[in-house]
Amino acid sequence: MNDSVSTAARPADIPSVDRLLNQPFLQPLIVQHGRALATAALRRLLDGLRAEAVAGRLTQQALADTALHEALAEALARDSAPRLRAVFNLTGTVLHTNLGRALLPDSAVQAVVRAMTSAANLEFDLDDGSRGDRDDLIDDLLCELTGAEAATVVNNNAAAVLLMLNTLAQRREVVVSRGELVEIGGAFRIPDIMQRAGAKLVEIGTTNRTHPHDYANAIGDRTAMLMKVHCSNYEITGFTRSVDVAEVVGIARPHGVPVVVDLGSGTLCDLTQWGLPRETTVRETIAAGADLVTFSGDKLLGGPQAGLIVGRADLIKKIKKNPLKRALRVGKLTLAALEPVLRLYRDPDTLAQTLPTLRLLTRPAAAMASMAERLLPQLQPVLGDAWRIDAVPTVSQIGSGALPGGQLPSFGLVMAPVAAATGKRGGGRQLQRLEAALRALPRPVIGRVGEQALWLDLRCLEEADEADFIAQWTQLSDALRQ
Ligand SMILES: *Cc1c(COP(=O)(O)O)cnc(C)c1O
Repeated sequence: MNDSVSTAARPADIPSVDRLLNQPFLQPLIVQHGRALATAALRRLLDGLRAEAVAGRLTQQALADTALHEALAEALARDSAPRLRAVFNLTGTVLHTNLGRALLPDSAVQAVVRAMTSAANLEFDLDDGSRGDRDDLIDDLLCELTGAEAATVVNNNAAAVLLMLNTLAQRREVVVSRGELVEIGGAFRIPDIMQRAGAKLVEIGTTNRTHPHDYANAIGDRTAMLMKVHCSNYEITGFTRSVDVAEVVGIARPHGVPVVVDLGSGTLCDLTQWGLPRETTVRETIAAGADLVTFSGDKLLGGPQAGLIVGRADLIKKIKKNPLKRALRVGKLTLAALEPVLRLYRDPDTLAQTLPTLRLLTRPAAAMASMAERLLPQLQPVLGDAWRIDAVPTVSQIGSGALPGGQLPSFGLVMAPVAAATGKRGGGRQLQRLEAALRALPRPVIGRVGEQALWLDLRCLEEADEADFIAQWTQLSDALRQ
């Protein structure tokens, strides 16, 4: 060791950007990140060092070639790291809107890659060489799977509802039960969308009870449609009454007024066959007489973000002619992903293996339980004596407003600071630190804090990812020790 280690550096000791840029030891970084980025990062680094030197806090050691190289490499790596990153979703909510909802099957991933890297017949009829319609790529599949006459696709279900209302109810009235005026996370509120679409909302019934005569009495000259909205993220229980789609259709038909349903999640097959809670399917809603049904592509359907509208051919035709359709249309990547996902539904027998969303939702609690037992002994030494880790039963949620009451038995790891259990203070801070350290891992781990502990629901950690998950834990112990 030389004694420059502790010698203070002065601002004048800091080399110039130009001089450093010509130093051989920085060339690999310049080649890797490009001269422009490397120069800018180096300038910022030296500005910081200069400020330190002025404050009398800079050592000569910090100006050594190796130290400068390391600092610049770190700054460039931080700067060029992707912002949208893979995380482990251990929140227990399978379709987590903030974490990107549905995961796509491999067939969809391959189709997206193909569509991204080559020209494709997005709006081109390969049979006769004429201009095509992008909806043609999936509308017959959607009709086959739902029993509807026609179909179209837009950016998401919020867009589908907006487009439907704007096309069919502008300056006219839309009748909705007060029990269905829901707000879906992220500022989607039925009354607000209605207003933006230019439609006038006519509220009927009460929060807990709406009767057939409420619908009947609301129909007048200006009525554009009767609308039903899936309650998605909440449940009304107790003294309740609502009118089902078939009943509403019975009331509307004699007046020639269409009935539309925002089904939210919109599942394409009966989930009870996999032991999941019952949810009305799109096909059942069409069969009950709904004229139009809208639903999301990335909720229970398990596909890409999209809004699907299916129903009567004449109404779909009007919707497709609305100039807003052009503004809300989907890109080729969405269509590329959607088609193979819809195809999987043609073989429901294998769906629980082929569709990741359904695979996760139907994963047996025993699989998570044995994973928890495997992980626990590996985690305890990483966290040390300050933490108590237990493998415990828990319940996962489907998420994204699907089946709010439906809960899925699962298994997870719960980590509690020993301090908290013994009544000592500081447990809350420890918990925050652990939660932050998990978020700072190369592939961030997102859990759930509750009851003075951190919960990791293992439902969405599949066996294929287990080794990657464990491999990061050494970095966690480093982070917690600091
Ligand atoms: C989720 C949901 C929406 C919004 O769908 P996005 O695809 O997220 O735009 C609209 N209506 C209902 C009933 C929903 O559950």
